[in-house]
Amino acid sequence: MATQTAQPNPIPNRKKALVRRFRPDHSQRIRHIVQGLFLLLNGWLGIQFYLWARFFERGGTGLSVTRPSGVEGWLPIAGLMNTKYFFMTGHVPAIHPAAMFLFIGFMLMSLLLKKAFCSWLCPVGTFSEFLWRLGRRVFGRNLHLPRWFDLPLRSFKYILLGLFVAVIGVMSAEALESFMATPYGLVADVKMLNFFRDIGITAAVVIALLGLLSMLVQNFWCRYLCPYGALMGLASLLSPVKIRRDAEACIDCSKCSKACPAGLAVDKLVQIRTVECTACMACVSVCPAQDALQLALAPRKAATAAERWRRRSLGPLAVCGVLAYIFFGLVLFARATNHWQTNLPQSVYMQLVPHASQLTHPGM
Ligand code: SF4
Ligand code: SF4
Repeated sequence: MATQTAQPNPIPNRKKALVRRFRPDHSQRIRHIVQGLFLLLNGWLGIQFYLWARFFERGGTGLSVTRPSGVEGWLPIAGLMNTKYFFMTGHVPAIHPAAMFLFIGFMLMSLLLKKAFCSWLCPVGTFSEFLWRLGRRVFGRNLHLPRWFDLPLRSFKYILLGLFVAVIGVMSAEALESFMATPYGLVADVKMLNFFRDIGITAAVVIALLGLLSMLVQNFWCRYLCPYGALMGLASLLSPVKIRRDAEACIDCSKCSKACPAGLAVDKLVQIRTVECTACMACVSVCPAQDALQLALAPRKAATAAERWRRRSLGPLAVCGVLAYIFFGLVLFARATNHWQTNLPQSVYMQLVPHASQLTHPGM
């Protein structure tokens, strides 16, 4: 699925003078702060959701907290189903509406800023990055799988995505609504929580294996297995903002390609269109040359690099601004229009939450 634009470098291969960057780059520090904050937000949501579920499991005794709808960000399939329902009917679904708003928000981010969700916000992406950095420390390096193995492995995430899309694609609006209203659909979030709380030996071994592979190969889960990332990658093909290299300002040092966790040939291309680019800006952060590499809109036609990229490139704070605008904008809109919460009576949760583990998929 890699669709890099292999446009030839118009400048012949000769040693070019380095014009050093005028200002130091803080993109990675800022990105790590944003990753940390989003991880904290998810941790807080997880703890609140756990307390909420425990209240019903104890038969309505103990600490009573509000159900945090933000946990529905962990239900991407519900998000996809509800988004389809919304576009078919024009109605915001009653069950797990937050899943739909968050799904739409993350897709919007991909449409505008490549897969920035993966490298700036996603907690799994943050863990993946932590693991490959840890692996690099422990083993001295990360592995790069040979192309003949890497390419077919990358197709796995599209196969998984295709399965979900095929199943959801044939469902009518009535079928989607009925599915969400089943006991299984109502407490899909509790089932997710129980999966991690009562993890079986098989699941634990699989997660441990994925952890080890993530230490060895950069972003193993994201690169090969995540169907959500696959969908965002496809949406990211339409992003007007891309990593763009200015061949005249570039001194061909290849630092960008060496720093790219997706293994992209940044130093050979004039724009990175591939579905694998996560807009992490690691390449931009190591580039020593002024105006040589940027996360930017298409350049202007101008004689100097400074003119070509003026008001076209986005710094890390601008990326944060766009992500925050989409995220908080949608959450606040959903809250203001009373479409954020799943409004079910306590009695329904009292009945379902304690038995969530026994509930099976309606199709089974
Ligand atoms: S290092 Fe650059 S090219 Fe590679 S994934 Fe990050 S932003 Fe994209
Ligand atoms: S880091 Fe990449 S874009 Fe920057 S000067 Fe070196 S080769 Fe060119």
